[in-house]
Amino acid sequence: MRKPIIAGNWKMYKTLSEAKKFAEEVRGLAPDAGKIDSVICAPSLFLEPLTHIVADSAISLGAQNMHYEVEGAFTGEVSPVQLADLDIAYVILGHSERRQYFNETDEAVNKKAHAAFAHSLSPIVCVGETLEEREAGQTTAKVEGQVEKALAGLSAEQVKTMVIAYEPIWAIGTGKTATSDDANDVCQSIREKVAHLYSQDVADAVRIQYGGSVKPENIAELLSKTHIDGALVGGASLESSSFVKLLEAGAHA
Ligand code: 13P
Repeated sequence: MRKPIIAGNWKMYKTLSEAKKFAEEVRGLAPDAGKIDSVICAPSLFLEPLTHIVADSAISLGAQNMHYEVEGAFTGEVSPVQLADLDIAYVILGHSERRQYFNETDEAVNKKAHAAFAHSLSPIVCVGETLEEREAGQTTAKVEGQVEKALAGLSAEQVKTMVIAYEPIWAIGTGKTATSDDANDVCQSIREKVAHLYSQDVADAVRIQYGGSVKPENIAELLSKTHIDGALVGGASLESSSFVKLLEAGAHA
């Protein structure tokens, strides 16, 4: 039985005071950590102050990106050591916005995944197809290719503990959600790919989220599907009341 994981990806939204207010509002309302993993992926700048607010709550924190080097002359970047030093639990890697606007490659995502594990951070590796690719019938090939490249060289034990987020690019921030059956089919093909690369045991353990216009109104239907173990949520994670509804739906999935 895989524990659901709901992660809010705030992207480049909120000021520090808004971030703190949000964390104060939700920290007592997150469901029991035995039932669901509840994660806020905030801008790096806010992570340290948020650690104090969510300490001793069921909320974990995640970063939205990091470099793969432990330190160095990389202006503007954040390292895995810096995140680990704050006890940050998760890091989103290879989000489509990073791939699209910051030229992040599959190879970089793979290096980052290795770096995350080397510093006890759990990676949430994002994969997904464009509308053009979907219409050309290339969804499975694209997504399975991204999975294979992101996981290269990781051990079975590492893959068992990681999270893969399937986010069709055409569904992000557009209000268009993949149907729950379509989303489940792609998540199933990701699981089958992991089984092929590792074993059925590893595939049964890895958690696969869906992301793309997830809202309180559609999350229960998505989570009712066999291969969808959680959600990576942008817009609907920005309001505390909406985020708490998502967590509650996850806890009851
Ligand atoms: P939306 O939920 O706003 O569509 O964003 C999805 C996403 O990109 C989460 O990482």
